Amino acid sequence: MRKPFIAGNWKMNMNAASAVSLASGLVKELEGVDSVDVAVCPPFVYLQAVAAALSASNIALGSQNVYFEENGAFTGEISCDMLKDVCCTYAIIGHSERRHVMGETDELINKKVSAAINGGLLPIFCVGELLAERNAGTTNDVVARQVKKGLEGICDERIQAVTIAYEPVWAIGTGLTATPEQAQEVHAMIRGLLTELYGKDIAQSLRIQYGGSAKPGNTAELMGQPDVDGLLVGGASLKVEDFAAMVKTVA
Ligand code: PEP
Repeated sequence: MRKPFIAGNWKMNMNAASAVSLASGLVKELEGVDSVDVAVCPPFVYLQAVAAALSASNIALGSQNVYFEENGAFTGEISCDMLKDVCCTYAIIGHSERRHVMGETDELINKKVSAAINGGLLPIFCVGELLAERNAGTTNDVVARQVKKGLEGICDERIQAVTIAYEPVWAIGTGLTATPEQAQEVHAMIRGLLTELYGKDIAQSLRIQYGGSAKPGNTAELMGQPDVDGLLVGGASLKVEDFAAMVKTVA
């Protein structure tokens, strides 16, 4: 039985005051909810303030990125130890905006996934196809490649730290959502691939989130799919009432 996992990706939004206010609002709204794992991923600079606001709650903290080196001359980057130092549990890795805006490759993402696990963080490892790739009928090939390359060298023990987020790029921030059937089809393909790579027991235990314009109105039908174990939420995670409503729908 996989426990549902809903994570909010705040992206490059908020300021110090609104980040704390959003976190505090969620703590209040979600008090007592323990049947769903919940995390929020604010910008790096607000992690510490948000960690303080979440301290007496079940809501976990995550980063939106992490670098694979431990320390040194890597200007602008943030290490696993630094993130753990400010109470992060999770790290989003390979988000489509990092792949397609910042140019991150499967190889770099693989190094980050590996380093995050070794460094004691739980990766939320993102995969997903572009619209042109879906239209060309190559969704499964693209996503399978991203999963295989992103998880290269990750052994049976270490994979248990990973949540996979399937996020069709054409659905992120566009208001277009994959239909529940489209999401389920790719999630089932990913689980099949995980079965090949890690065996049935591990594949059945791993959580696969859907992301792409998830909101209160489509949460129930997406989460009603057998292989959709949670949501990675962008826009709708910026409002207490929307994100809390999504978590409560799942709970
Ligand atoms: C995301 O950023 O991971 C995301 C899914 O964004 P949105 O929910 O806004 O589409």
